[in-house]
Order: sequence, then C-alpha cells, then structure tokens
Amino acid sequence: ADVFATTPLNPPDAIFKLTADYKADTFDKKVNLGVGAYRDNAGKPFVLPVVRKAKILIANDETLDHEYLPIAGLPAFTSATGKLIFGEDSPALKEGRVSTIQTISGTGANHYGAAFLERFYGPWAGKTKEEKVIYVSNPTWANHKSIFNSVGCTPVDYPYYDPKTIGLNLTAFLDFLRSAPAQSVFLLHACAHNPTGVDPTREQWKEIADIFTAKGHYAFFDCAYQGFASGDLDNDAWAVRHFVEKKVPLLVCQSYAKNAGLYGERIGALNVVASHSGDVEGGAQRINSQLLLMQRSEISNPPTFGARIVSLILNDPKLFAEWKQDISSMAERIILMRKKLFDLLENKYKTPAVGPNGWSHITSQIGMFSFTGLNPQQCKDLLEKGHIYLTANGRISMAGLNESNIEYFAECVDKVVR
Ligand code: PMP
Repeated sequence: ADVFATTPLNPPDAIFKLTADYKADTFDKKVNLGVGAYRDNAGKPFVLPVVRKAKILIANDETLDHEYLPIAGLPAFTSATGKLIFGEDSPALKEGRVSTIQTISGTGANHYGAAFLERFYGPWAGKTKEEKVIYVSNPTWANHKSIFNSVGCTPVDYPYYDPKTIGLNLTAFLDFLRSAPAQSVFLLHACAHNPTGVDPTREQWKEIADIFTAKGHYAFFDCAYQGFASGDLDNDAWAVRHFVEKKVPLLVCQSYAKNAGLYGERIGALNVVASHSGDVEGGAQRINSQLLLMQRSEISNPPTFGARIVSLILNDPKLFAEWKQDISSMAERIILMRKKLFDLLENKYKTPAVGPNGWSHITSQIGMFSFTGLNPQQCKDLLEKGHIYLTANGRISMAGLNESNIEYFAECVDKVVR
C-alpha cells in the first residue's frame, strides 16, 4: 500500500525554478534577475577578496582542527556579530542583555526566532497557533510565512507597500500598528526591504518605534542585508539601534550570505535582547539556556567554516577595513545600475511611467532588489519575448544587471510597457 497516498504535491520553489529555467535557456542575451545573489559586472558570482584572504589564513593555520563548536557557536564569532549589529557601545551589550547563537544563515535565525517566541513569548502563553500571530509586511520575503507556519506561528499581513505610489504606505502601516492588540509581534526588515527595496526614512522609523514603545509591541528584526543597502554597515543598522535605544523588546536575525557573499556557507546569528541581564523574569540567562536547548535538539552544533571566516573578518581591524571596502564596492555597483536603468528608461527610451513619479522609484529604492512596478502580464512578456527571468510581482535583482545587459533589459522593458 502507498502509505504516502495523501501527501500533497508541492510546487517547486518559484525563485529556484526561475534559475533552473534560465540555465536551460539557450538564447544568448538571456538575463537572470530572479535570485537575490550578487553578481559582478561580468555577471559572475563574486567571492569577496577579503574572504579569499581569510580562507588562506584558515587553510594555513595548523592550530585549527575539526572538533565540534560549542552549542552556541564559535565564541569569537558570536561576540563580534552582536557588536556589528548593535554597535560597540550598545547599552544592551554592555548590560549583558543580549543572547546570541550562531545559526544556519538568516533562514536558521528566523526559524529559531519564531520557534523561541512560540514557546516562550509571555503574552502568547496558553494561546493557540492561530492566536500566535507574527505580523509581516505585505509583501515580504515569501519564506517568512513558511518558516513561521512551520514552527506553530501564524503570519498575518500588515500594510506596507503601496502599488499606486510604488513606495511606502506609511499612514496605513502606522494606523495598523496603533490598532493592533498591545504586545503584538511585528516582523521588520532592518534595511533593504525584500522584495520591494522600499525602506522607511529615519524620521519614519522614529514614528514607528514610538508606537512600538506605546503599545508594547515586539520587534522581530530580520537583517539580511547589513551594508548592502547604503554600502555602510553602521548606517544600515540604524533602525535596530534606534529601537534598542527606545527600549523596544526585540530580537535580530543576521545573515552573512549577502554582505560577505557566503551564501552557501550558511552563516548567521540570532540575537535576543532581554530586558534584564540576570536570572530574573526576561533575563538573558534564561533566554540563553533555551536557545542552547533548541540548537542542541535541532543541529547539535553549528558548522565551523563560515563562522571562522566571518570571525577573522570581524575581529581583525585590517581585514575588517578591507571587508568594508568590498561591501561598498558591491553596493556602489548596484547603485550605479539603478542610475543607469533610470537614465535609460527616463531619458533614452522615454518609456511611459508605471507609477506617479516616472521611473524615480528605481533610484529611490535601496538594496539588492527593485520593485519595478511592472504588472504580471508585462513580466510574462519580458520572460517570453525577451528571455528575461524575473518574478511575476515585478521584482528584479539589481545585481543581475551589468554594463553588458542593461541596455538590452531597458529596451525590453520599454517594449513591454508600450
Ligand atoms: N531574510 C530575508 C529578507 C532575505 O531576503 C533572505 C535571503 N533571501 C534571508 C532572510 C535569509 O537568507 P539566508 O538564509 O541565505 O541567509
């Protein structure tokens, strides 16, 4: 008998399917703007020069072995990663209120963050899965919903993106925050919002934080692109640091996939900030003990390689300075592509606008992605007529554009819009 006869067939992951289709396409001008992975100006995957150096140091270091890491991860990594996001002088770090564990990249951090809240978030005690709501921006990274569902939480949309302006719907977002039940949990993209590229300004973040304080909401920060948005690590951590300063209860998920190009090495961290450091209600020690238990039961010990690389980079001032250079070169190339695309559509092709402000959203959006404002039919036309691979919501990975294909892309956009 087929004991899995009732197992439903799940469709392939949309993004990874795009890449597979792209690879199978033999058209010479094909363009892949689907997956969010950095490409250099030749369209090739990029190993950061500083990462190459760190790998050589590791290979030549005969004191390193292949023993298990501690359950929380490589200590030199976990202490440095907290400083990177919260800042050297963070009151939360100084007061010993931060519990950090090394995770399987940003995905693992999101998974543990939600699983931890599901078990221990006080206001959720005795609640059902349907009542353990994590509010997520509409839209958000599609995997957020799968991850939260899989650990017994329920993702529910909050208003964020306004298709009419191709920008932030701040009023609707703030109203939603105000009318949500006290102590609700909200997922926030720390910077470089995926998929829209639309981030609040500092003034807007301040308004958002004030409502969190007033309502006692919990901020679940996902920080997958620190450094990638503006090219500056501190700048991109501003929102998180502001929330810490305002004493908003929060956790932060970190990923080194994008900013160190360590996609496949799966290195990230979860940082839970407690209100107290000691063994008291909300205390960091209790939180830490449960994070360790969770890690032990899921993967026992985190993997070593990515942690060693990032730890070298974060703890050696010279390598750290080089990393900052590498990050800003990636961010600058993306910003340059934004300017070029804007210029081609606006000035060369005089392409009819899809939003109220011409094509200026291309340059005002930030990070790896741009929400072009193209509709599903136009995206389909780009794929079928131009061999341009992008998701049906009109999101493009800016990193997929380069000097050799941007003209072709702009020309195709112009054709499908007219
Ligand atoms: N959060 C967001 C918003 C992302 O865009 C990504 C990467 N696509 C991640 C988390 C996690 O990625 P990874 O597990 O590769 O670090």
